[in-house]
Amino acid sequence: MKIGVLALQGAFIEHVKMLRQLNVQAVEVRLPHQLQGLDGLIIPGGESTTIGKLATEYGLIEPLRRFSECRPTWGTCAGMIFLARDIGIEEQPILGSMDITVDRNAFGRQIDSFETDLDIAGLAGEPFHAVFIRAPVVTAVDGAVDVLARLDDGRIVAVRQGRLLATAFHPELTNDLRLHAFFCAIVEETLA
Ligand code: GLN
Repeated sequence: MKIGVLALQGAFIEHVKMLRQLNVQAVEVRLPHQLQGLDGLIIPGGESTTIGKLATEYGLIEPLRRFSECRPTWGTCAGMIFLARDIGIEEQPILGSMDITVDRNAFGRQIDSFETDLDIAGLAGEPFHAVFIRAPVVTAVDGAVDVLARLDDGRIVAVRQGRLLATAFHPELTNDLRLHAFFCAIVEETLA
């Protein structure tokens, strides 16, 4: 199994390290041809406007869109924003692959970063310690989307739509490998 991590900006090295801890071959992706031969892709957190701008400059928008149409793709934080169909901002380049509406910077400046324990559907064991940094939330989902986790106030922070996964927080900034293993299992299903 070979999984790419979009390495234009943001926390890509941390994702690569987590995948390698799971003994999965992980490669950094900066150019369209580097998507060839990948079984899955992670789009990291960072700054979605920067990721969108660089992806446009490097001719990656269409190749990434096509990739996410047929292969497992997981967006964390800015990556979730980048995968969404609707973020309410026309000018910002996004892939639009997932049938979710996302509110960027949903927590505002006062509590722009926080950590909390989440129950995530499909993850066995203790709650997942989730790190939120200027995080988005999902404000609407289409029928094909499964909600995997909510905050105590009901706001949606993890979703799955078939082979597409999106989380508003940063699992690559913890030592918990369960979500990476969960994504690898989705990839494995598509290879079977
Ligand atoms: N607020 C950032 C954005 O809009 C996302 C923050 C993050 O990825 N930690 O892209």
